[in-house]
Amino acid sequence: MIESQFMEKYQVIARKFRPQTFAEVCGQEAIVKTLKNAISMQRTAHAYLFCGPHGTGKTSLARILAKALNCQEPQDNEPCNSCTSCREITSGSSLDVIEIDGASNRGIDDIRSLNETVSYATTSNYKLYIIDEVHMLTKEAFNALLKTLEEPPKNVKFFFATTEPHKVPATISSRCQRFDLHRIPLAQITAKLAQIAQSLEAKIEKESLELIGEKAEGSMRTAESILDQILCSNTGAIELDHVTQALGLLPQKILDALDEAYVCRDIATAFTLAETIFTSGIDHTHFIETLATHYRNHLKVHLGILSSKTPPPLTKDHCLEVLEYLTDLLAQKVPYTRLHIEMVLLHIIQSSQRVPIDTLIDQLKGMREMPKPPVEPITVEKKVELPPASEPKKVEPAPPPEPPKAQVKPPEPEPEKVEVVEAKKEESPGVNPAIRRENLLRFAQVELGGSLD
Ligand SMILES: [Zn+2]
Repeated sequence: MIESQFMEKYQVIARKFRPQTFAEVCGQEAIVKTLKNAISMQRTAHAYLFCGPHGTGKTSLARILAKALNCQEPQDNEPCNSCTSCREITSGSSLDVIEIDGASNRGIDDIRSLNETVSYATTSNYKLYIIDEVHMLTKEAFNALLKTLEEPPKNVKFFFATTEPHKVPATISSRCQRFDLHRIPLAQITAKLAQIAQSLEAKIEKESLELIGEKAEGSMRTAESILDQILCSNTGAIELDHVTQALGLLPQKILDALDEAYVCRDIATAFTLAETIFTSGIDHTHFIETLATHYRNHLKVHLGILSSKTPPPLTKDHCLEVLEYLTDLLAQKVPYTRLHIEMVLLHIIQSSQRVPIDTLIDQLKGMREMPKPPVEPITVEKKVELPPASEPKKVEPAPPPEPPKAQVKPPEPEPEKVEVVEAKKEESPGVNPAIRRENLLRFAQVELGGSLD
């Protein structure tokens, strides 16, 4: 009983929110404007070719255009959606608007029988043919279609839709007015999903809707299908975890734990997280892509494109470095093993300790402008008995107190050492510039392959 109720709901959701007017079409403003102008100027073409990724509104636009052209009471070039013609087109029972699925009616006989109906009388203004996935037609079918397209009766129009316009013969496409539909922006998808959720009285957070929208990659139909699926599988309020689980995504808490491990430099976490990820069977590409999206978002926060309650744990340079690393991984075909997941996580956690190359170069430039400090003794630690600040040059410090053989026992005078170091610190605050310079130069030599100049 409950199941059948869900099934019914599912059916309704899939169709209920299809746009019925130009104003309801998402993300295709320029095309909508052109079509409405054409209607108002009575200059609609004989054939239109709507191209674009699936779920961007090609067939919807064709249907709305058909309705607007045949509407008995159009308002502001929009269909009224209540006259007989509009209602028949919406329900798919109009005799004057014929919809053909090019994928399953692709043969010459299908197009021949279509051609036969072209000259039939109409009760509406126009006889309109909507051919979906038109690129699927056979060569012969296209040829048969071409004959009608070359000399169509005055009141006949064709609306073609395709995801693969390059497969439509030039002889056909050159006779059409072509519109390229864009992927629908995330904000618009999310807004539409929120509207759907509200009218269905479904409790779902904005964050979850955004996640669905992101996963849909510009396709409203995909977004709606995902929402359907999630609403069907949960009766109560829908939380982000439901969505990540339903989509087989990497849970947010793993990303949060990774951020925390980065901050604490806790490399052990890499192993526990890798175990969780590996056993949950999350798809490899998805794993890397999710990480990339995560750090991309951090970067966006740094750049002020995205707002966040908390500042990103990684610096801008570290975000870039990690993103570059992940992008490289995506390009490679790496085996998906527990070990590999561990390596990826370790690399990210460890990146907190890496000096970005730009910073290094900047520092080196600064160094170059600094006057060269005189060569001072860099022998620091082992001079236990030295009085503060004396003796400029002693390259070989001979350690008198302990013979080198006795290595079993660790050097004992540790407390004395500390004192000496502290005394030194008081003398010259900060790191000795000579040591700093030396270290940087050595690092640069390795990192830049000696191409400093
Ligand atoms: Zn109407």
